[in-house]
Amino acid sequence: MKFSQQVVAWYHQHGRKELPWQKNTGVDKPYHVWLSEIMLQQTQVVKVVEYFERFIKALPTLEDLANADEQQVLALWSGLGYYNRARNLHKTAKLCQQNYQGQLPNNLQQLIDLPGIGRSTAAAIMSLAYDQAEPIMDGNVKRVFSRHFLVAGEPNKSSTLKQLWQLAEKHRALQEPAAYTQGLMDLGATVCTKYQPKCNQCPLVLSCEAKIKDVIEHYPEKKKKVKQTEVDLYALLSVDADRVGLVQRDEKSIWPHLWFLPLFKDEKSLTKNHMDARPYFSLTHKLTHRILQIHVFTLSQPIKSSTVEMITRSKLINRPHPKALIHILNQHDNH
Ligand code: SF4
Repeated sequence: MKFSQQVVAWYHQHGRKELPWQKNTGVDKPYHVWLSEIMLQQTQVVKVVEYFERFIKALPTLEDLANADEQQVLALWSGLGYYNRARNLHKTAKLCQQNYQGQLPNNLQQLIDLPGIGRSTAAAIMSLAYDQAEPIMDGNVKRVFSRHFLVAGEPNKSSTLKQLWQLAEKHRALQEPAAYTQGLMDLGATVCTKYQPKCNQCPLVLSCEAKIKDVIEHYPEKKKKVKQTEVDLYALLSVDADRVGLVQRDEKSIWPHLWFLPLFKDEKSLTKNHMDARPYFSLTHKLTHRILQIHVFTLSQPIKSSTVEMITRSKLINRPHPKALIHILNQHDNH
């Protein structure tokens, strides 16, 4: 049996068929598939399910997303991180409304030309929503291909990626492309896992070169560690009963457009502006390339400033904010 046929047969028996974005079979299916693909880029399925359902409940159609306010879109994204993904979703929905009668185009290149849609996401939309034979190459698929075909080199290196795409093209499924794409993703997520792959449950076990040569742990090649830089931030926490003082971050700052405590570059500038501020606690918050040391200062009286808005904590859902804010508020609650 061909590689793709084995994956499709396995999918019909063991693949995931109950994910919320798989249930829609109507005109909004491409929108649901696209949203799930963007959410899944950096986030585990369990968490994505929760965010996806909340997002779709608020903005059930592509048209609703196009007409939404950016702050609402960012608020629905709050906690998922990588907020440019949400901004690009919004931009793309507007472009679809202007150029494609409010639908995602049924064309690979037109999809790739839209903001935030790369080749693999475009191919996932083409195969899962429009049932076209377009190969994908996400993290799970890279792992399965690297091991099965013994592809050397770090998978995101351009030469390795080129080789992986060539293999994906060669092994594309002309029959049941949607089942093949979903099957490959599920196989990578549930069987050919990063650690301790379950080769005894894998439909590809007899042809997998890494398994045959007993070198699975060397494939795919590990990413060289990115050096993270440490950044100190000085934040002013002003709490009044169940309200907290927040400012909306500007375009060029860390967390653009999100709501956070007023930040200062050092202790001196914070205390110069707020003489009664005193050190409260410090915490570490990790981002992809940066480790933030956030030094939180507090005031004895609620802040009086025209730039700071006192926001009720139960209404934070409407104000897009980074996860670091929740960490700080939790630490304050436990203090
Ligand atoms: S046999 Fe093992 S290593 Fe090879 S593709 Fe299957 S799960 Fe992955």
